[in-house]
Amino acid sequence: MGEVELRNVSYSFGDRVALEDVSFELDSPFFCAVMGPNGAGKSTLLKLMLGLLKPQKGMISIMGYDVPREANRVRRLIGYIPQVINIDHRIPMSIEEVVAMAALSRNLPPRIVTGEVRRRVREALELVGLDDPSAQFSELSGGQRQRVLIARALVGEPRMLLLDEPYSMLDFDMKCEIADLLYRLHRDRGIDIFLVAHELSPCIHLEPTVILLNKRVYAIGRAGEVLTLENLRRAYPGLTEIPAGFILGEDHG
Ligand code: ADP
Ligand code: MG
Repeated sequence: MGEVELRNVSYSFGDRVALEDVSFELDSPFFCAVMGPNGAGKSTLLKLMLGLLKPQKGMISIMGYDVPREANRVRRLIGYIPQVINIDHRIPMSIEEVVAMAALSRNLPPRIVTGEVRRRVREALELVGLDDPSAQFSELSGGQRQRVLIARALVGEPRMLLLDEPYSMLDFDMKCEIADLLYRLHRDRGIDIFLVAHELSPCIHLEPTVILLNKRVYAIGRAGEVLTLENLRRAYPGLTEIPAGFILGEDHG
């Protein structure tokens, strides 16, 4: 059985279908990128994998756990980096505090920053290349913030990271830096990476396993095999012509 296995998973919001009969399997170690247009069900897929939503049909298992039934166990093994996070920028917080909050939220009260918590926070910040723990979160650039959020996910020492559009809202160089950081975590620390995005140009040179998704899985495999003109036309029905640089270039609409 694969580290991640979905079999015939469907999910709808009322009569709006988000995912239909989705099946795939990944063996660890993996660096996997799900690509699909807006509304393809990418965020819904991540929420199902985390047990935040329950599949209406089919089954999901992660590291041997049945996700809907054992969501709490699964979540301890996964670091989730949502697309939108709620950190109130009016409250001054150092990046060390942002990451420590995540570490503490896993403990029972009273929640005290012990030497052990501080050590794990420093280690997570080092892993993502942030060397000033006292830097103010609100004053960071988008790319640096994304690093803090990755550190926040790493502090629980997860085996897998799930990332929702980690490249959006960043300039192209920054997207590539984040992609390289994720790749290093995968290669050097053995952390499985599962990210979703509407375009893969920042990470395509890292040769991820690609899943082409638009409510259902159109193809899965190596980028060169999956991202063919024919597959893209099927998964992006509005697309009559593949613009130059659709995969390797910048954002599309
Ligand atoms: P993606 O992340 O690929 O853009 P989503 O998973 O967010 O796609 O959404 C898939 C489909 O489900 C879309 O049609 C979207 O409008 C719908 N959807 C997502 N979340 C909700 C929700 N909370 N309530 C109703 N419809 C939703
Ligand atoms: Mg989304």
